[in-house]
Amino acid sequence: MQLGAHVSAAGGIQNAPQRGGEIGCDCIQIFTRNQRQWRAKPVTDEEAAAFRENRRCCGIGSVMSHASYLINLGTTDPDKFAKSHDAFEQELLRCHALGVELLNVHPGAHVGAGEEAGICQIAHALNQICRAHPDKADVRVVLENVAGQGTTLGKSFEELRAILERLEAPERFGVCVDTAHAFAAGYAIHTQAGWDATWEAFDQVLGLDRLVALHLNDSKAPFDARKDRHALIGRGEIGPDAFRRAVCDPRTRELPMFLETPAGPAGWAQEIQWLRAVAGGADAPLPVIEDAGIDP
Ligand SMILES: [Zn+2]
Ligand SMILES: [Zn+2]
Repeated sequence: MQLGAHVSAAGGIQNAPQRGGEIGCDCIQIFTRNQRQWRAKPVTDEEAAAFRENRRCCGIGSVMSHASYLINLGTTDPDKFAKSHDAFEQELLRCHALGVELLNVHPGAHVGAGEEAGICQIAHALNQICRAHPDKADVRVVLENVAGQGTTLGKSFEELRAILERLEAPERFGVCVDTAHAFAAGYAIHTQAGWDATWEAFDQVLGLDRLVALHLNDSKAPFDARKDRHALIGRGEIGPDAFRRAVCDPRTRELPMFLETPAGPAGWAQEIQWLRAVAGGADAPLPVIEDAGIDP
């Protein structure tokens, strides 16, 4: 089992592995750059070497980068598309330099052009970027399901498939399921029957071999509300049982799982401990954690 969280890279990306190690992470998710700005400096050789060394020292398993929230490969605005294309390409290069093997991205939003047009544009951009970098196939691009707010694409497994089936090198891609997004998009993971139906649907539509990671988040948004609001594990509308299932179900328990809850580092340490305990069959009470009010 690999449990971790989205840890801060403040002060330099090379600091992230220790932050993960300190709170008991087996795996970490990071921003490799300031994700609120378009501009980002390339990774230096020194930074990359320090990151790799610290990762090794701290015993961190999987590392996933979360691409900037500014990126929208589905946009109809040519300037924003050019910036998104460039920013995602640079992100691929940074991951390759750092030895980060998973690059998670929200597929994008069509902003009124329609689902078909958005999906085609996203797939086209991903194809161009992959084609330009055949030597960066060590970085697996991971499409994250979304809550379905506004015109965002990827809220259903069918929409993710529509993108994946247009890719020239689908083997370079995987899927990450965010539990809060799935629940808000209408996947009833809060019940046992809904949990089973969700993974059966995933397997039928995408194939479970495409599933490479989970984001573990409870949801402040109600079921099927199409809103993206993360809650502490077990304290939101989903409740604790889905997270017990995530760490016990053979379909998901071997995947790297990353917390993006508003718990903050001390709270993530407790959430990880609780997940480990329930994975081992213990009937552990949910930790009492203050909601820091921010998503990572
Ligand atoms: Zn995300
Ligand atoms: Zn997520």
